[in-house]
Amino acid sequence: TTWTVSVGAVDLERGRGVLLSFEDVTAVEEAGAMRRDFVANVSHELRTPITALQGFIETLRGAARDDAKARERFLSIMDREVVRMAQLVSDLLSLSRVEQNERRRPTDPVELCGLVEQVVALLQPTAERDGVALRVSRPEGPIVVPGDEEQIRQVLSNLIGNAIKYGGAQRPVDITLAAPAQEAMLRAEGVRLCVADHGDGIELHHIPRLTERFYRIDSHRSRAVGGTGLGLAIVKHIVNRHRGRLRIESAPGQGSRFTVILPTR
Ligand code: ADP
Repeated sequence: TTWTVSVGAVDLERGRGVLLSFEDVTAVEEAGAMRRDFVANVSHELRTPITALQGFIETLRGAARDDAKARERFLSIMDREVVRMAQLVSDLLSLSRVEQNERRRPTDPVELCGLVEQVVALLQPTAERDGVALRVSRPEGPIVVPGDEEQIRQVLSNLIGNAIKYGGAQRPVDITLAAPAQEAMLRAEGVRLCVADHGDGIELHHIPRLTERFYRIDSHRSRAVGGTGLGLAIVKHIVNRHRGRLRIESAPGQGSRFTVILPTR
């Protein structure tokens, strides 16, 4: 714990005295340290592609100048790096937007069945490329929760996207939307959105850290699949903002299951 102690003299109508004030600034110090870490991480994440781009530009001007094949290859790598940087900037913006509004709970009515279908349709081509079947199980009727549609879309898209990226080729992903049938239970338990893959699973000690910004189990793999390391941090903040809960269950060799529970009122 870090304390700031200030000493002052008081003279309340002749009765003299000394005022000692103690302030616990641990949280402030920790926030400062976290911000410095964050800035260092962002700088590092951006410097890597920038350095790569600089190298390729130099090569294109020099050695690869008259080699059409090499030029094409380098340009496509450069393209990938630029896409990665753009994704990083867009994730950073999302993160900062959610953090800014975290205290204000969003209350627009959001219909989840249609939203799940939309996100699944959007990710279908990516899944198909890896031979991943997206299997949806949901009730018939509409399920409405108070929230921010764009943000819940992002939660779904990040979780399903991760299941495709890390679940492994040819292994299906199960997306389940469940709402207890009885009104009283629905109110007590909320709606469950569950994304389960049949990949290699995650070792227990990583699980509590997955929602930290830039935490990756295998950064080579994350970069290779186009990850920024911010996806689950964004998910966590959005779920918090909706006063919901995020549960992560996984074990090596058993796949992973990410469950978001959203209150219905
Ligand atoms: P990234 O952009 O790297 O995917 P995320 O914040 O979405 O960042 O996820 C953080 C890390 O958690 C990933 O790098 C990966 O190591 C791990 N992870 C996320 N989802 C899964 C999953 N479904 N199966 C196994 N590992 C996962």
